[in-house]
Amino acid sequence: MKEANELIYFEIFPWSKNFETGIALIDEQHRELVHILNRLAAHLANRSDEIVLNEIFDELADYADYHFKTEEAIWSAHFGDDEWYLDHEATHVSFIDKAILLKENRDQKPLDDVIHDIVSFLSKWLAYHILDTDKRMAKAALALESGASMDQAKIQANDEMSGSMKILIHTVLSMYDSLSDRTLELMREKALRQQAEDALDRSEERWRFILDGGVENVWDWDIEHNQISHSENDAPLFKIVDNRFTADDETAAVHPADIQEMKADFQAHLDGQTDFYTNKHRILRSNGSWSWVLSRGKVVSRDEQGNALRMVGTHSDITERELAAQIYQNSSQAILISDINNNIISVNPAFTKITGYQAEYAMGRNPKFLSSGKHARAFFDAMWEDIRMTGHWSGEIFNRRSNGEVYPEFLMINTVKDAHGEIDHYFALFDDITEKKKADERILEQANFDPLTKLPNRRMFQDRLQQEIKRSQRSKLPFALLYIDLDHFKDVNDSLGHETGDALLIEATRRILGHVRESDTVSRIGGDEFTIIFTDLRDTLSIDRVMQEIIVSLSRPFEVRRNSLYISASIGITIFPDDAETASELLKNADQAMYLAKKSGRSCFSYFTPSMQKEAQKRQLLINDLHKALDLRQFQLYYQPIVELQTGKILKAEALIRWNHPERGVVPPDDFIPLAEESGLILEIGDWVYKEATRQTKVWQEQFNLEFQVSVNKSPVQFRSSAKIEDWLEHLAEIDLSGKYSVIEITESLLMENESRIADKLLQLRDAGIEVSLDDFGTGYSSLSYIKKFDIDYIKIDKSFVSNLTLDSPDIALCEAMIVMAHKLAIKVIAEGIETEEQRRLLTDINCDYGQGYLYSRPIPADDFEKLL
Ligand code: C2E
Ligand code: CA
Ligand code: CA
Repeated sequence: MKEANELIYFEIFPWSKNFETGIALIDEQHRELVHILNRLAAHLANRSDEIVLNEIFDELADYADYHFKTEEAIWSAHFGDDEWYLDHEATHVSFIDKAILLKENRDQKPLDDVIHDIVSFLSKWLAYHILDTDKRMAKAALALESGASMDQAKIQANDEMSGSMKILIHTVLSMYDSLSDRTLELMREKALRQQAEDALDRSEERWRFILDGGVENVWDWDIEHNQISHSENDAPLFKIVDNRFTADDETAAVHPADIQEMKADFQAHLDGQTDFYTNKHRILRSNGSWSWVLSRGKVVSRDEQGNALRMVGTHSDITERELAAQIYQNSSQAILISDINNNIISVNPAFTKITGYQAEYAMGRNPKFLSSGKHARAFFDAMWEDIRMTGHWSGEIFNRRSNGEVYPEFLMINTVKDAHGEIDHYFALFDDITEKKKADERILEQANFDPLTKLPNRRMFQDRLQQEIKRSQRSKLPFALLYIDLDHFKDVNDSLGHETGDALLIEATRRILGHVRESDTVSRIGGDEFTIIFTDLRDTLSIDRVMQEIIVSLSRPFEVRRNSLYISASIGITIFPDDAETASELLKNADQAMYLAKKSGRSCFSYFTPSMQKEAQKRQLLINDLHKALDLRQFQLYYQPIVELQTGKILKAEALIRWNHPERGVVPPDDFIPLAEESGLILEIGDWVYKEATRQTKVWQEQFNLEFQVSVNKSPVQFRSSAKIEDWLEHLAEIDLSGKYSVIEITESLLMENESRIADKLLQLRDAGIEVSLDDFGTGYSSLSYIKKFDIDYIKIDKSFVSNLTLDSPDIALCEAMIVMAHKLAIKVIAEGIETEEQRRLLTDINCDYGQGYLYSRPIPADDFEKLL
């Protein structure tokens, strides 16, 4: 079929029986039109010159015009003025218009492009015109000839043109659609290849209009003669169908798992049970891989018995689509697709698995329903900003499952854009990373914690120590670093084995932890070595106590694996920032102090600084003595008068405790009250003070017949303890003294403690007629509201205000303000520490009620006090 000049004949429009209308004249003319079109395409593909192309184009236009006239005469004879005829005529008119337009504009583009446009327009138009319009007209015309009415004829024609015919038309048209994009290139490629291959045998029965790059692969199966036609690149596909039904070859390339269903679908259609045959199956490619194929088809003719004679269909490789679907369905990652308004349009099974929400529930909703409430608005705003700017976002986020559980996920959001580059879908992928997080934590734990005791290890300890240094620098509160070494632990380990040693360490850890606060960090930094970072140090006393407790508790026997084991501990203490300023120095100091403790006999603690160590030792000795002081009757109450400023009369006295130590002489309360508080001895001592003071009051009452009041100091530790006020009240009853003759002095800090026990005790005192005095007023933070709430009777202006009092000092204004304020609340004021006449006068002038101080008298023993009275 080669034309002259080695022109590669190019069938852009392969004629087949399918194009025949059944009206001979029309078919003949159509064939001629197609031939001219194919020639035009061939010349185009072969880069023929402009003149030849123009000639052929003109020839085509002339011939079309001639053909339309022939056709119109035939259709007019059958349809008269029916709308089918008129509509058909209109298509001819529009063709001519379009062709003229293309021809007119041909100077504006390179000739190649013009011809290219014309060829693709013509081929499409012709395909539709011949395959659809004319064929339909012909079928109706034939029906009319055989006596049908116009309506019946049209219905019959439409019927015949539906189904497989539609598939065919669709296929051809879509082929030309895709062709038009790069028809020229394709054709030229094709021309070259054909030159090389020296032209294939082109049977008119074979459909040759599917070119490389065509969308679908078409097959035509003549069942009657078992003849198969198929587009060139469908050959490997069709062979399967062929084999399957002719040779019954089970080894055909269809995946064994898909054969059964494919057979059933085919049979169902051949038997007339389905309108179309459709089946998805896998076929074996020559490269050994499986491809997914979607096969569709329809029986286009049957014999009188209804046996299928011929079937037409398509094959498409849907491997990618199918793979995507498989991935979508089986992915362990949740996939969520939402529309431009962020309403969900699809979720996969993993989505349901992770979130607990069914697809039906999620559909149409904004993904907001997953939110955990753990992220602020700003988080999401930033996320959407990112998506708008970059098209995607990824990160960790907390969401909530349908059962309410909050879980972490790794989320990736991508945008899908339409042809114009506008976002039209959001595509979100996420993983539940709960397990991963746990694993991460486990790794972190292994790196930072001692697996045996679960305490921070040396590495973690170093971190915490650094942090604590920074914290302390900010808060200005010192901290202590304690280094604990278990004595004799090595002996246990060596003689009884590691398992016993391990059990002992676990128990020792438990004991140590029992004596520290939550905020303190206990670490295990070596075999039997522990550290404690003891934070927010307000006084060294509390460390002394904790050390003592730890030492005592570690020297109790350990019952481990049926053994009673005895160990003890030596502890070294260093203080930041006093002793050192860096972590490594601190650790060295604490270690050194620990060795000192070991050297001085074990089961004890040692401070790094010698002076501190001395202090600690002194405190320890004092505590030991304090334990015996009550029994040895070493305490004594002194009394200091409280004077009514206006009259100078002694109406009250404050009882102040003294400790007559056999070696040290009189120990002032500031030196031992804190120790008594730390050790709890204050409870017993306090009871003794109250009883002794009230006993003395009673004596003076009877002796001097005065409305005389004695105040006693009560430590916050006493208020916090479970000791009952009732005991005191019973005592008052026993000695027959009214409550109104005693006053309890409390400190401001006590009022700040928001504990009901304290408020209850204060109320109990008031109910018993015992008055309450607020000591050291002005040094703490009491607010008016507190004072009012607790029904205070007196405030005692602290010595520090009084001692600086001169006429023009700011303290006078302060004192006056306190007095005015107190009086407004019906509270009386006592000024402490009056040492000079000037202070007395100033305070009297500003209406202070009472005064106390060396000016009147130092605290003195009861005997001496009597003389004042
Ligand atoms: P405080 O309750 O503020 O007692 C007043 C302190 O000021 C007394 O010290 C007293 O001697 C001293 N003082 C009185 N007048 C003057 C003065 O004109 N100038 C100066 N510079 N000082 C003056 P003391 O007796 O050494 O008591 C110290 C603290 O010990 C008391 O302070 C009180 O908080 C506590 N304390 C004393 N006895 C007891 C007690 O029986 N129980 C409790 N829990 N604490 C007590
Ligand atoms: Ca006091
Ligand atoms: Ca005071």
